[in-house]
Amino acid sequence: SLQDNLRTALKSLRGKGKLTDANMRDGLRMVEEAMIEADVAYPVVQDFMARVSEEAMGQKVLKSLNPDQQLVGVVHEQLIQLLGPVDPSLHLEKDVTVLMMCGLQGAGKTTTCGKLARLIGTEGKKALLVAADLQRPAAVQQLHVVGESVGAKVYSEENASDPIAVCQNAVKFARENGINVVILDTAGRLAIDEELMEQLKTIDRKIGPDQCFLVVDGMTGQDAVNSAKAFNDALELDGVIMTKLDGDARGGALLSVKHVTGVPIKFIGISEHMDGLEPFYADRMAGRILGMGDVLSMVEMAQREFDQDEAMKAQKALEAGSFTLDDFKRQLEQIMRPGLMKKMLGMMPGFGDMANMLQNTDHEKDMRRLRGIIDSMTREERRTPKVITPTRRQRIAAGSGTSPQEVNELLKQFDAMSSMMKGASPSELIGKMQRGDL
Ligand code: GDP
Ligand code: MG
Repeated sequence: SLQDNLRTALKSLRGKGKLTDANMRDGLRMVEEAMIEADVAYPVVQDFMARVSEEAMGQKVLKSLNPDQQLVGVVHEQLIQLLGPVDPSLHLEKDVTVLMMCGLQGAGKTTTCGKLARLIGTEGKKALLVAADLQRPAAVQQLHVVGESVGAKVYSEENASDPIAVCQNAVKFARENGINVVILDTAGRLAIDEELMEQLKTIDRKIGPDQCFLVVDGMTGQDAVNSAKAFNDALELDGVIMTKLDGDARGGALLSVKHVTGVPIKFIGISEHMDGLEPFYADRMAGRILGMGDVLSMVEMAQREFDQDEAMKAQKALEAGSFTLDDFKRQLEQIMRPGLMKKMLGMMPGFGDMANMLQNTDHEKDMRRLRGIIDSMTREERRTPKVITPTRRQRIAAGSGTSPQEVNELLKQFDAMSSMMKGASPSELIGKMQRGDL
């Protein structure tokens, strides 16, 4: 992934002392290779590298910093620049606002329509979902299911064959029925074709939607870029919504899509469920691409998925810097649900490798083992792990049926996590990662 490649690239700058033209060029070349390998489109890479080089070379005077940290700082800053500006507003000022969704088949349009309707509902407005995808027989039915699950009305016509007429009638229906937002769920094809583009252009012209959003599948690399280009040429896009960023996708495609369309990224889809839509934050995404872990998103997810009280306690403890092995254990128990754990670990700084390790193993068993180790510690040991001497480690291992190495591993993980959380800045985190502290 881009994350891993960048990490390797930046690691090699470690301990190089002062920043020189030569080692800076080495570092930049590695960053460039990392981006190309991560499927970021070449013109995007070139543009990005030009900006990073200019910034990095211009900062040579700051000799007090380590070159790796300095370069990470520059890359991070430029990523934020490239991903921004951010505009999460849906601009729903009018009596009836029309939002049009477009994108390839399977990108997540219908799902995102439902997510948006839900969001709009929480703001006290009424949304109408419009079944304008008449290509797939099941599409209309799917939209009805989605609409029902979020409590939004769905407009569809029996035996309809003209999506443009459906859209026009739907807008009329909305005006007559006090609906504030009309969301058009249009058809997608497996690849871009002329007929689809013509259909979308006609809808665009005849309906005149207030906002036109391109929905892009975040799991696809170069394909995402090519389709974004085609849609951007055909339609006047107002924003991009990238879906499926809940899996292993680290968002490399976002860079390309943003570069190609030039329109703001509005939201990201982080699950197939109706609450799996997040406003887009450039700084968080830059951190995620760089592999710093997405601590803020993690805390938010924790609040959503965990027992609220436990999550609050953990967050408070993290903020107060008093995070103990007891808190750690409670968190482990919360994430014992399969699937959820890998997702969470993947987002936690320093835990990416652990998530991979767990891919093919029995999560429950691993969790039980970790919990067993903590259970075998005394109160004092849980509060202040520093007191754990080799003798104590032996005892804990024996008590939990594990080895002293395994106890050590757990302590290292805990240490990484708690020091990570103590309000460290992104560049400090990266520094730790490179020194092998994480
Ligand atoms: P459409 O053809 O563009 O309308 O795409 P759909 O909305 O039917 O979505 C295609 C598939 O992607 C469905 O199985 C969705 O559940 C899934 N999907 C959509 N958005 C997300 C997301 O953000 N995360 C995940 N994991 N799956 C998603
Ligand atoms: Mg659909």
